[in-house]
Amino acid sequence: MRIPNLTTTKLLEEGPDSISKAAKAISNPFWQAVLTKMSPLESAFYNSNSTVKVEERVVWDNLAFQQNGLPFSRRSNTTMLTRNFNSIKDFISKTTNVLMGEHEVKNNLKGSQLQTWNQMVASITEYLTSKNLTWYDIGSSGSGPQHWGWSRLVLENSKSRKFYQLLMQKPNDAPRNPNEQKWREKGLTTMTSERFDKMYKNQSKLRCGLRIKWEEFRILWGRQELNRYKANYSNTRGDNKTTCSYCGHYIEDEIHLYIDCDTSGTFWEDAEEWYQAAFGVAPPLLLNGPRLFGMENEPPDDLLNIFYRCVRYTIFMGRKRAATPELRYFVSLVKDELKLKYSGNKILKHADNQSEKKAIAWMREQMGWVLHNRRASPN
Ligand SMILES: [Zn+2]
Repeated sequence: MRIPNLTTTKLLEEGPDSISKAAKAISNPFWQAVLTKMSPLESAFYNSNSTVKVEERVVWDNLAFQQNGLPFSRRSNTTMLTRNFNSIKDFISKTTNVLMGEHEVKNNLKGSQLQTWNQMVASITEYLTSKNLTWYDIGSSGSGPQHWGWSRLVLENSKSRKFYQLLMQKPNDAPRNPNEQKWREKGLTTMTSERFDKMYKNQSKLRCGLRIKWEEFRILWGRQELNRYKANYSNTRGDNKTTCSYCGHYIEDEIHLYIDCDTSGTFWEDAEEWYQAAFGVAPPLLLNGPRLFGMENEPPDDLLNIFYRCVRYTIFMGRKRAATPELRYFVSLVKDELKLKYSGNKILKHADNQSEKKAIAWMREQMGWVLHNRRASPN
């Protein structure tokens, strides 16, 4: 690893993959055997134990956090980035107690380092989402005791765990995510803290494709990777267009893409027409809140929420594929969602619900599901 003046602190800060690789050169056979297993050990530890604080995970040289199939390398980034952002909890803002905004790091990180920082945030978000966590789960435990680097791995199983439970209680007046205010400033004035809390709860209950879930979280967070970001990055592909992928007239941000754009607006109407014909449900299109976040008072697998979510993802994905979002793609997303919703015995839960009858019938036809008839004919 070539760390000068190696201390315990420095070793604990090191990423597991880099320790595993370096251990191959250790002469002591015991430590070599132990330390070469560091990467799988660290990974198994954090996967097996749900009470473990994932926020302490070191993000460098760790196979859990990757970009283009490779872990983020400590050695190829500046110390300004690697020292200040060593584990997940370092991405939490000291002032707001939730994920830092880009403006908070802009002064220290320039150009490609800022880009790497954003990619790390994306990778960590993906990791958290896959564990059904959000950044709020990370920020909320800031008052508890923290371990340094992967040292918890060494100390876990001692009786100290009981104390953690006591100390981890969420403070009542935890600050709100600054994005909530930003959404209100952008015109969603009726989005109160209470409504956002319901959104977060729905987001954590949401069961759908992980990529879709991740994009849903990024919309709520106001940080979807849209063309407007190209203004911040030095783009290697030479494409620095910040305008809408569909109409080309306005800056592509969430508000334009899902609410204001004429092209996607036409698609919302087409999709609604199809949905109404297929399921007898007409999702309202006039309100901006549901278009962006769905309906917080309905469960995430409610037919209306499925509609809003699938339209959003179709619009998002269609940007690179075609001149307009594709209805065919939308229908296939809806089918995936209903497959999850009605799979196995879950269909029984919805079978008596009048508003679901058409959707269930449609799904049966699509999937070739057969009705089980209880009255077996006697021979
Ligand atoms: Zn547009």
